[in-house]
Amino acid sequence: MANINYLNQCIFDNGAISQLPRALKSLGINSPLLVTDKGIKNAGVLEQVLSAASSNIVVFDCVMANPTEAQTLELVKIYQANNCDGFIALGGGSSIDIAKAAALLATHEGELARFGVAQRGGKHIGKVSPIIAIPTTAGTGSEVSVAAMIIMESGTKEIFISPNLIPPIAICDPLLTVGLPPHLTAATGMDAFTHCLEAVLSPAINPPAEAIGLDGIERIYAQDWLYRAVFEPTNADARWHMLMASTEGALAFVKGLGACHALAHSSSRIKSLNLHHGALNAIFLPWVLEVIEVKADEAINAKLWRIKRAMGIAAGKQISEAVFALNKKLNIPPNLAVIGLKAEHCNEVVEYALLDFAHITNCIIFDENDYREIFLKAL
Ligand SMILES: [Zn+2]
Repeated sequence: MANINYLNQCIFDNGAISQLPRALKSLGINSPLLVTDKGIKNAGVLEQVLSAASSNIVVFDCVMANPTEAQTLELVKIYQANNCDGFIALGGGSSIDIAKAAALLATHEGELARFGVAQRGGKHIGKVSPIIAIPTTAGTGSEVSVAAMIIMESGTKEIFISPNLIPPIAICDPLLTVGLPPHLTAATGMDAFTHCLEAVLSPAINPPAEAIGLDGIERIYAQDWLYRAVFEPTNADARWHMLMASTEGALAFVKGLGACHALAHSSSRIKSLNLHHGALNAIFLPWVLEVIEVKADEAINAKLWRIKRAMGIAAGKQISEAVFALNKKLNIPPNLAVIGLKAEHCNEVVEYALLDFAHITNCIIFDENDYREIFLKAL
């Protein structure tokens, strides 16, 4: 059983879910609220987790993709009505992020917006209710990250960032990801790949985070574990390496993300479409890389060279070309139109991408025209 103590305690192994009772005890949680979604329940994963724990667990299994402020408030009510004393977040980024937001509101006075990055609210985030995060997708890495994203009642997609939002314990059991369908394995895996790439390229100085990101890139692309996880879903080694790469992606993005995430965040604000974060990143990524490769200066080229080395591709080859080919191999939707975006969405996507926190850590500061061109090409 690997115990990786980096930003938190990460218990990582096939069968690690057996450690849940010990984790609850070590955080002093006697009455947890387990937060998950219907897909996890229907796949039988919820039952598996409940049978691993001995305590009385209150279950909320209605988390929606792209969680909202309204649902966060609903969770806080359930938490308080049942006198809960901690959260178990079971699922992908949506379940873990909403548990973080609810853990924050359960312990702090005031409206959620006050704590968001838009109002520089991170400084108001103190200790929150304890969370044990159990990822069931290999993509977001939210189980080890400082961030949570929630769609606010105002329609904006708000991010909350604080070291206090890192779940104190993450239980990473690759066997829990075996039932993830191929299209979600591909999309969430490409999210992890994008985290690693954008983190390495971000201009912040943090060589340890870059080394972790490069290791994730090698695992996903050069060692071909993402392809194998998609096409050999029961390959336990592939699931292990993809969950590790996902965790690595989030450890790496402490140094920032980039324009691809700015576009993905901005597009997933459109409530009527409820688009998947990973699929958006996968579609935008090669187009964003194409612009970066054209505009790269010497420092960025040095990083692109390290990325190519980690991917195992020739120095003369473009990373964007390799990512286009990877998307095709993984059956990622070929363009934005296929998932419902239209030319009429371009203005608002560009407007909010320019305001997104990930925009400012892109290796090149994109302007409105860069984003517009990328959106229309990806359409
Ligand atoms: Zn992401």
